[in-house]
Amino acid sequence: MIARTLACLLLSASLFDTAQARDYRYSDAHLHYVDFFQETEGMPALLKAMDEAGVEQSMISGIPVAKKWHEDEPKRPRYYAGDDADAYWYSATDLYVAAALEKLPAEQRRRFHPFLTGFNPVDKNAVSHIERMLELYPGLWQGIGEVFTRHDDLTALTSGDTPRANNEAMTRIYHLAAERDLPVLLHSNITSKRERNPLYLAEIEEPLRNHPHTRFIWAHAGSSMEIHRHQERMDFLLPVLNRLLEDYPNLYVDLSWSVLEPYLLDEQGVPRQDWVELVVRFPERFMLGSDVVGRFGSIGEQMHAFDPFLDALPEAVAERVSRKNFIELLPKRTK
Ligand SMILES: [Zn+2]
Repeated sequence: MIARTLACLLLSASLFDTAQARDYRYSDAHLHYVDFFQETEGMPALLKAMDEAGVEQSMISGIPVAKKWHEDEPKRPRYYAGDDADAYWYSATDLYVAAALEKLPAEQRRRFHPFLTGFNPVDKNAVSHIERMLELYPGLWQGIGEVFTRHDDLTALTSGDTPRANNEAMTRIYHLAAERDLPVLLHSNITSKRERNPLYLAEIEEPLRNHPHTRFIWAHAGSSMEIHRHQERMDFLLPVLNRLLEDYPNLYVDLSWSVLEPYLLDEQGVPRQDWVELVVRFPERFMLGSDVVGRFGSIGEQMHAFDPFLDALPEAVAERVSRKNFIELLPKRTK
């Protein structure tokens, strides 16, 4: 008995050592410089949070919509879901990101990888707007997104038609993205809040199939916190991901928060073996993101929350997921 306890202690100590030995450095593949009101804590707060969290490099984008404080609302909403007022497409968001980066000294600026997001994805002219922005800031933009398509309640609150990842406006954008070597971070929920099947899968699968030269990052692997609130863990998510990753080498997956729990980790915070196996099977295709919006104090907490899952991966794979994969996905000219 004593021997067994001792063996257990030694085993857990050695596991502890292994975990301790890994001092992760991260690339944040999903970060919003502003919130849904286009407000931000600012660059000094962001840099401080990144330094404290061990985030070396970060994707940075605005938020493509602005939540309206409606004339009839006595109190200013605190989040896009705060009341029934709509959110509208807001292009100035990219200018805030560009201006913040331009003020930085070169060595700090190099840590950021700005993505263009301020366009309406149901407007077939959106591609022309993107081209103008690329011309206006030569060499600045390194990707497109986060594009909001199916996004549970936000979809219903956004002015105009519902954006789909497989519509004509986005098709034009995917062509441009391939031509300019820009990855596209796409938010496209795999289903609605109540349907327990991959209702909207075709909307992401069609562009994956039709645009083999465009690199797609699927935000949250198509999951969302709002879907989890209404239904159990989607048992079809893992098999769907397995198939898509096999069929489409242009697909990359952002594992940020609504994937971490309940998919990567179980209720006790223990890594799920089937997800560990999925990531090991496709070691170059997964990345981490904080998905913070305008406030940065939680970046460390968000990124370190992945550590138990990273610890369950072989060290080289963990290093890829935590840091390398996102950087390798960026346009060749930036490397
Ligand atoms: Zn986001």
